[in-house]
Amino acid sequence: MNDVIVIGGGLAGCATAYYLARDGVAVTVLERSELNTQASGSNAGSLHAQIPHDPFVNRGPQWARTFAPTIGLLRHSIDVWRDLPATLDADLEVSLRGGLLVATDASQMASIAAKAEVECSQGLEVRLLGRADVRTLAPYLSDTIVGGAFCPDEGKASPLAATLAYARAARALGARFVRHAEVTRIAPTHDGFEVSAGTELFRAGRVVNAAGADAGKIAALLGISIDVQGFAIQVAVTERVGPLIPHLVYSAGDKLTLKQNQAGSILIGGGWPARWHSRGYPTTDPDSLERNMAVALAVVPALGALRVIRTWAAVVNGTDDWKPILGEVPGTPGFFINFFPWMGFTAGPAVAQIVASLVQGKPAPFDVDLSPFLLASA
Ligand SMILES: Cc1cc2nc3c(=O)[nH]c(=O)nc-3n(C[C@H](O)[C@H](O)[C@H](O)COP(=O)(O)OP(=O)(O)OC[C@H]3O[C@@H](n4cnc5c(N)ncnc54)[C@H](O)[C@@H]3O)c2cc1C
Repeated sequence: MNDVIVIGGGLAGCATAYYLARDGVAVTVLERSELNTQASGSNAGSLHAQIPHDPFVNRGPQWARTFAPTIGLLRHSIDVWRDLPATLDADLEVSLRGGLLVATDASQMASIAAKAEVECSQGLEVRLLGRADVRTLAPYLSDTIVGGAFCPDEGKASPLAATLAYARAARALGARFVRHAEVTRIAPTHDGFEVSAGTELFRAGRVVNAAGADAGKIAALLGISIDVQGFAIQVAVTERVGPLIPHLVYSAGDKLTLKQNQAGSILIGGGWPARWHSRGYPTTDPDSLERNMAVALAVVPALGALRVIRTWAAVVNGTDDWKPILGEVPGTPGFFINFFPWMGFTAGPAVAQIVASLVQGKPAPFDVDLSPFLLASA
C-alpha cells in the first residue's frame, strides 16, 4: 500500500510527489494522459508576485484586500524558484529581472498606485515609476508609456522544463508515476482510500487531489463540492530575436503579459479567451490573437518586425474569487487538495511544499497564514 496517492501529473502533482518522496514518503502519481500536458506545460511561464491588474480594475480594492494574503504564497514560491535549478539539478530557465506594469494615461497610473498600496502592505516591493524612469529602465517600451510600477521579484521560467524536472527528481527518490491512469472512483476504506484508475486499483492512506481544472470532478467522486472551473485561454510566441526584453511586462490598458524566453522568442499572452471546440477541447480564437497582438505592439513597437510563429490554447484552472484551495478537506480525513488558480505555475513550488507538509501532519514550511485557503467545515 502507498502512503500517498497524488492525482494529476501537472506541476502541482509532480512537485507534491517530489517533496513527499524527499521526506521518505511512498508516493504514487496517477496521471490521465502524459505528465505536463495540460496547464503546467502550456502556460506562459510568468512568475508573478503582484496582484493581477485586470481583476483589480474590474473588482476593486475590496477584492484586492481579500486576494492580498495570496501574495505571500507567490513571494515564497518565487524564493523557491530562485534555487530550484540547483535543487532539481536542471536548467529551468529561471530569470528574475523584475516585472513592469505600464500605463498610457493618468487614470491607469492612479489604479497602478492604488494596487501598489495593497501590495506594499503585504511586504511586496513595488516601485512607482514616472515617464523618465520607465524610459531608463526599459528603453524598448513605446513613447506612449507615461509611467508604471516595477516589482523586482518577478520573472519567468520554462513551463516545458519545470514539471518534468520535478518528476525526474521525484522518481530518483522512489516516487512512482503511472500514466494513462484516469481516476474514476475513490472510496474511503478503514485505513485510507481505494482509487480506481483504468483497470487498476490503488490503495493509500492519503490522497492529494492535484487534478487542476478537473479538481472539482475528482472531489465530487467523494461527494465533496468545490467551486473550481476551467477556462480556455491562449498564448502566442514569436520567432527568435536577440536580447530585447529582460522583464516580464504587463499593460494597465488591457490584458497583456509579455516576456522573452531563453531561446529569444517573445511569449505574448495575458489571459485572452480561446474557444471551445465542439469536441470539448480548447482551440485558439483569431479575434483574441489579433487583439492581444495589438496590445503588445502598442507597448513594445519593435514587435512589429517579428512574426508570430505559433499560438496555442489550453485550459487554466480558475476560481471565481481567485483564491487557492489547499489542505485537508474537513469531514474527509486523509483527502487533501492542492489547487492554485490562474497563477499556479508561479505558486506551484511553494504550494507543493506546503501541501506535502500538511499531508504528513507537519506545519507549513513557510511563515504563511493558510486559514484563507483552507476549506471551511460544512
Ligand atoms: C495558457 C495558459 C497560460 C498560463 N500562464 C501562466 C503564467 O504565465 N504564470 C502562472 O503562474 N500561471 C499561468 N497559468 C496557470 C498555470 O499554468 C496553472 O495554474 C498550473 O499549471 C496548474 O497546475 P496543476 O498541476 O494544478 O494543473 P495541470 O497542469 O492542469 O495538471 C492537472 C493534471 O491532472 C490530470 N488529471 C485530471 N483529471 C484526472 C483524472 N481523473 N485522473 C488522473 N489525472 C487527471 C490532468 O491530465 C493534468 O495532467 C497559465 C495557464 C494557461 C492555460
